[in-house]
Amino acid sequence: MSKERMGLNTRLLHEGSSKDSLCGAHVTPIYQTTTYVFDNIEEAIRLNQNQDQGFTYTRFGSPTQHELENKIALLENAEAALAVGSGMAAITTALLTSSKKGGHMIVPNIVYGCTYAFFEQLLPKYGIEVTYVDPGNLEQIEAAIKENTTTVYVETPANPTLNITDIEAVSKITKANNLTMIVDSTFASPALQNPITLGADVVVHSATKYLCGHGTVVAGVIAGSKEFVDKARFPYLQTLGAVISPFDAWLLMLGMKTLGVRMKAHCENGLAVAKFLEEHPLVERVYYPGLESHPSHEIAKKQMKGFGGMMSFDIKGGIEAGKIFMNSVKVFSLATSLGNIDSLVQHSPTMSHFDMSKEEREKVGIKDGQVRVSVGIEDIDDLINDLSQALDEVKKANL
Ligand SMILES: *Cc1c(COP(=O)(O)O)cnc(C)c1O
Repeated sequence: MSKERMGLNTRLLHEGSSKDSLCGAHVTPIYQTTTYVFDNIEEAIRLNQNQDQGFTYTRFGSPTQHELENKIALLENAEAALAVGSGMAAITTALLTSSKKGGHMIVPNIVYGCTYAFFEQLLPKYGIEVTYVDPGNLEQIEAAIKENTTTVYVETPANPTLNITDIEAVSKITKANNLTMIVDSTFASPALQNPITLGADVVVHSATKYLCGHGTVVAGVIAGSKEFVDKARFPYLQTLGAVISPFDAWLLMLGMKTLGVRMKAHCENGLAVAKFLEEHPLVERVYYPGLESHPSHEIAKKQMKGFGGMMSFDIKGGIEAGKIFMNSVKVFSLATSLGNIDSLVQHSPTMSHFDMSKEEREKVGIKDGQVRVSVGIEDIDDLINDLSQALDEVKKANL
């Protein structure tokens, strides 16, 4: 039986692993070296001129990184993958790879903050226009297409309001118009959603989050056609230099071995926390794609294998209620980032989205009392008791 037909947990442990040719190490070693020695000038020429596969210099790749890339490509059902030094490096490298001089991109009106900064501050500086759309509105996407459009970019589930974009529906538009569709699938991880299988051209992840899972590495990955990934590596990674270190590639592979069991636990705890919050009198609204009350629950059910551990919710009582809640949690840690095995919370209006005005925030659905939760894999009763006692503190304040 081929490994492709095996289950996710088996694939995560066995697929894409290569046997160490030097001494048969069971776990791929960390090739902590900057450069590779050639046997003779003929080999040096072949490798430096890309006539042959091999390693020359760690900015262009290392054996540890290479194995990680094989594993990501297999997980995302892609021809090839590229691992880079951060999620933002993956996003900007993929966007630049798909761009052209004087081109135009269609991007979502709600997106990870630093991605928005790239759209706002950098792309226009280099003459690339962007149009913001509601990616849930297919007519808006079609209407935004121009002669110079190269790319449609989506993030699903989106940060921090967990908006869902119908990947298959958008991919029909991009295919019909010969555009590159790039999906940031960080919140789902390859265990829960495979955008390329659904019709997208390129998938990017902040591997810092669920792929790593342990909060130890900042890294990113890009998966897509061999042609796209080759171009992303040469000249983009080659010249911009956002390389992943061999040690970080190794740590990432260590984390990825348990992606399947971790995501199962995140999904179970996520749904239980979302249901608890939805019933709570101090909670105005819960944004979790696994709840039937989520406006895109049906689309999420269609394209995701589970709903993950990310959610946001609005506490009654505005900014002050959000702050009291944050200062009252004991098991959850106050931190940005997400997708760790342990639970984290952040208050979006005063933390990740502090630089937006109240009006701007409300337009994209970020209310004053909005808290984003990354539900970890702790025992569920401890998580719910912690949320419950923190909400009791908000109640006592009588706002
Ligand atoms: C964290 C995150 C990023 C950025 O990733 P880094 O690894 O921090 O550079 C991009 N997109 C989403 C959805 C994220 O959550």
